[in-house]
Amino acid sequence: MPKKNINVKWRLQGLTCAHCAAKIENELGKVEGVRDPVLNFTTSQLSFIANEEATIEEVRRRIKKIAAHVEILKLEDAKKPNLVKENWQMISGTFLFFLGLMLGYPGLLLMAYLLAGFKTLKKAGSNFFRGQVFDENFLMAIATLGAICLGDYQEAVAVMLFYGIGELLQYLAVTRSRGLISGLLDLKVESVHLIGQHGIVDIAIDNIKIGNLIQVLPSERIPLDGVVVEGSADLNMSALTGESMPKYIRAGEMALSGSIAVNGLLKIRVTSTSKTSTIAKIMELVEHSASKKSTSERFITRFSRYYTPAVVGVALGVAIIPTLLFGDISWVYRALVFLVISCPCALMVSIPLAWFAGIGAASKEGILVKGANYLEMLNDITVIAFDKTGTLTEGQFSVVKVQPSGLSADEFLKYAAHAEANSTHPIAKSIIKTYAKAIKHEKITGVQEIPGMGVRAMVDGREVILGNTAPLDIFPEGGDTLAYLYLDGQYKGYLVLRDQVKQSSRDAILALQASGIHVVMLTGDTHECAQKVAAQLGIVDVRASLLPHEKVAAVAALLKGLPEGSRLAFVGDGLNDAPVLALADVGIAMGGLGSDAAIEAADVVLMTDDPNAILKARKFSKKTLAVLYQNIALALGIKLLVMILSLFGLAGLWLAVFADVGVTLLTVLNSIRILKK
Ligand code: ADP
Ligand code: MG
Repeated sequence: MPKKNINVKWRLQGLTCAHCAAKIENELGKVEGVRDPVLNFTTSQLSFIANEEATIEEVRRRIKKIAAHVEILKLEDAKKPNLVKENWQMISGTFLFFLGLMLGYPGLLLMAYLLAGFKTLKKAGSNFFRGQVFDENFLMAIATLGAICLGDYQEAVAVMLFYGIGELLQYLAVTRSRGLISGLLDLKVESVHLIGQHGIVDIAIDNIKIGNLIQVLPSERIPLDGVVVEGSADLNMSALTGESMPKYIRAGEMALSGSIAVNGLLKIRVTSTSKTSTIAKIMELVEHSASKKSTSERFITRFSRYYTPAVVGVALGVAIIPTLLFGDISWVYRALVFLVISCPCALMVSIPLAWFAGIGAASKEGILVKGANYLEMLNDITVIAFDKTGTLTEGQFSVVKVQPSGLSADEFLKYAAHAEANSTHPIAKSIIKTYAKAIKHEKITGVQEIPGMGVRAMVDGREVILGNTAPLDIFPEGGDTLAYLYLDGQYKGYLVLRDQVKQSSRDAILALQASGIHVVMLTGDTHECAQKVAAQLGIVDVRASLLPHEKVAAVAALLKGLPEGSRLAFVGDGLNDAPVLALADVGIAMGGLGSDAAIEAADVVLMTDDPNAILKARKFSKKTLAVLYQNIALALGIKLLVMILSLFGLAGLWLAVFADVGVTLLTVLNSIRILKK
């Protein structure tokens, strides 16, 4: 049977425990026929590729097995929950509780307990029978049932209510945080004004095809990438670059999806679909970032595997040993308190949320980070290797001199431009622009581009070689880039090309060096040219005349020399440095607004093409880590305190629940702080 690839995207409504999220992702990895399962806890979105319908059913079954209470919805169908309807048991439980207190009637309290604890007890029960013993529902059920056995009805109900309200608050806080983060990312336009033969109609974005003509009204978001055919506007591209200065575009220029046409009306010929547009790619990339876990997330998953059973063991010891030795039943109660406070929920919920908030906040500034692990590593960078052309320099050459030898300048340029006609290198573009005449593609055959050196092609039946190989008796002057031309193996002169250092590069390099980072420049260009740029930027460690594979070797050597725990980043423009981007701990690419190769190969994409964004990215990394440490200290500190108090019999169940719920809320709110400027 032929294998199909079915893309499945679901929202797992009601997924509040990060612990189950990790479990579900693990479990799906084991299902045959499932590829790339990614469960983003923060957005509660699950995506995977299945080979057939039966596999999807199997996935559904396995999710239900781990988290029975989770509702599996297609992404489109996800709905807003009705809080009153879903919590009627708790509301009536609260009512009965106060009635019971006033009348002093234990039967009412028992009913109140069952109502208030309905959901928790049900979850605990169904999880228990499916072998998922140690979760917070179970802890709460044991603790409150224990209190009932000890005759503390009031306390049992109060704790259940407290816990229920706490869960609800936590649910609201997490949903709101999720909303905040996804709101940052959700820039998709649903409906598009299509210009058809019979006028303008609004149709769903998924039905728009490449080549369609669409209209974008002033202040609307541009739905798809395309070329402006009529009109002009100031584009606010802040969703893509974080840069709020508008960019003016007019007919003939490219309009990128996700940006907003602030003032003008635009007619655009569409060049992408809703799946391949720039903004779709950015959103997809950030959504998927959840699959690359930070060490803290991996730690917490591993940690809870041993932690919860250990705590239950200790609690059992505390309950049984003193009771048997001294016949003192009050230790059972202390054990229950200990159990409740030991729940690691605060960390399980807030850690992934913090990372995702960090990634979301960075994306708002035009810094796309492909995983929490990369955001984490940015903080540990001690060496940054920069590519020169297009990274530290503008990558836009201008031809400043043509020096032909034995043929006219026009002939020289004709051969050069035709040889470069199929190259995407910035040098090629500048030569073609200088030639300024139409390229006759039918005259070009046998094109070969040799990365780091130049091009070779047959033009008009003659072999043209253009590149950085100087003839023996010529010595390049100054710090400019030279391209030498050979016709049928004979030297025919050279071109002088000049590139400009980016205005922001110097500040960025100095700031990075000031923060203790060793900056290296790697380039395929000549020593003279590299030295000139390096001197302008204050870079000391320069390695020039490197072929692409020599760049790889240089980065590999730098990686070897790194001390334990520190990281290396490579920053490139994505043009023939994909292998180095992949090799570095953190590969950072200049996004070049829509350059696919760069977005594909890198771990971090800087949409602004500005080296200063590296400093910003590190700030987000630091901020996220700081919040993380605060959360861990807060959660562990308060829990430890209550644990100790409980062992001395000084903390009641209500305090334990209050502390647990309170800490979770505090850590969630603290994580959201990352989004605030
Ligand atoms: P960098 O390492 O600075 O990004 P590249 O590796 O892209 O530079 O190229 C190194 C050198 O090789 C360039 O400075 C140029 O001299 C030469 N070169 C590469 N591609 C071309 C091309 N298409 N045409 C002419 N020269 C080229
Ligand atoms: Mg380059």
